[in-house]
Amino acid sequence: MKKAVFPGSFDPITLGHVDIIRRAIPLFDEIIIAIGVNAKKNYMFSLDERKNFIGSTFFAEDKISVETYSGLTVDYCKSINADFILRGLRNPADFEFEKAIAQTNRKLSGIETVFLLTSADTSFISSSIVRDIMRNGGDATQLIPPSVKIK
Ligand code: ADP
Repeated sequence: MKKAVFPGSFDPITLGHVDIIRRAIPLFDEIIIAIGVNAKKNYMFSLDERKNFIGSTFFAEDKISVETYSGLTVDYCKSINADFILRGLRNPADFEFEKAIAQTNRKLSGIETVFLLTSADTSFISSSIVRDIMRNGGDATQLIPPSVKIK
């Protein structure tokens, strides 16, 4: 049984995340989209809102569930017997950042990180840019799934 955790803030989920998740469905038996809770971060959307946006986007997908966790991602993976972490790569900056985390995670736990390269048409999308657009009254609907309610 191949079980993967896709960890992130998803503040909010974007079409970039959706692309990675959809393309990962054939690779795994189960994918847990895991929203990491970090008390020090200020989020635009509440945990419940973020969870609902993801849940309604993937309600028809049996393989996908949404959970929240705090603490180390590898500890969470072990607690639910997941052997893989799924992450998306958009650019060299993502790669440099993700490389150190993935190597550390493997050293700590043996858990492998599987990277999918973003599709060309969603590679420029980031949650932080979406938040900026929303804060300034712009229209971000082309960058997010319809389940995300504009703030
Ligand atoms: P984090 O705070 O952990 O970076 P994010 O919600 O920003 O959480 O991202 C979660 C994962 O989704 C990361 O692997 C990130 O690289 C990936 N991701 C974000 N935006 C995109 C995108 N446009 N295309 C592909 N992957 C993306």
